[in-house]
Amino acid sequence: MSRYDLDRDGIAALLADLPRFRTGQLWEGLYSQLADPAELQVLPASLRERLATEPALAEALGVERELTADAGTTIKWLLSLARGGRIEAVLMHHPRRSTVCVSSQAGCAMACSFCATGDAGFTRQLSTGEIVEQVVLAARAARRVARRLDHVVFMGMGEPFANFDNVWRAVERIIDDLGIAARHVTLSTVGVVPGIRRLAESPRQVNLAVSLHAANDALRDELVPLNHQYPLGQLLGACADYVAATHRRISFEWALIAGVNDSDDDADELATLAAGLRAHVNLIPLNPTPGGIARQLAGSPRTRVLAFQARLGRRGVNATVRRTRGRAIAAACGQLAVGPTP
Ligand code: SAH
Repeated sequence: MSRYDLDRDGIAALLADLPRFRTGQLWEGLYSQLADPAELQVLPASLRERLATEPALAEALGVERELTADAGTTIKWLLSLARGGRIEAVLMHHPRRSTVCVSSQAGCAMACSFCATGDAGFTRQLSTGEIVEQVVLAARAARRVARRLDHVVFMGMGEPFANFDNVWRAVERIIDDLGIAARHVTLSTVGVVPGIRRLAESPRQVNLAVSLHAANDALRDELVPLNHQYPLGQLLGACADYVAATHRRISFEWALIAGVNDSDDDADELATLAAGLRAHVNLIPLNPTPGGIARQLAGSPRTRVLAFQARLGRRGVNATVRRTRGRAIAAACGQLAVGPTP
């Protein structure tokens, strides 16, 4: 259990024998002050003692290791879960924003051939509280250096739409209670069509990113095994319906792999799909992973990345190249994986 699993009614039930205002104070302590209940000075000492041993208010995440890179602006935490399992979360300070990349599952079942998380396999779903706690951990760390955490991306370990309900409750908690703008929350999916359809029904203005990587079924089947279940026709149909329903712009993520999906023809094929949906493209030069290296996959050279981007641009598709953060500490896209417990 995480203290961030309880909703407000859950907190109220826990404090049912006390005056109602204590619920507000505890909620405020958790979500505004990001404090440990046992350290909330507004509460009487006896209550703090009781809360310190309340199982429902325990912390679910323990920091096993904290690694920093990029002159201290990228921080990766290896976290051990009280319920068992390990995950990683990454905080990135940019000049004008601070973003946390959170995990939605311990491990991942999607098995994308170039992703370290996929290679390690699936352990279990994360609860809402285990997800929210990652955001709280990052928000606290940001405060310590006088920054404000203002962006959350579900691009860590796991497939968010394979854990939709817990992820969605976490998204609501992040927006409504931690005060992060919906427009600053991004859900990234490998292409779980029912998840895209559910998101399309929500009035929340969160962003959707789709990990495309290939614009034809033959190649996508190879890179992203889930494509067998939801081939491009279905995936793009769901994307089109999402855009029609929400009037929001989708981003397509495209890990550029040398000689695999980085040719002019690949760019043209992608441009056709992206232009039809008025989608934005995020190019990520492939980051090294043990599995990728074993399969002899390498990132496209810089000149190819820029040529690919320019070609998309000439076809009216806006593409940005994602700046790699945290490679030195294996915190970059696709590098999150945790070894066996030491
Ligand atoms: N499962 C979700 C969330 C993970 S987001 C999804 O697939 O969208 C992580 C992003 O990094 C995805 O776009 C993923 O395809 C990409 N990625 C995985 N391995 C990578 C690698 N080695 N180099 C660059 N990007 C990678």
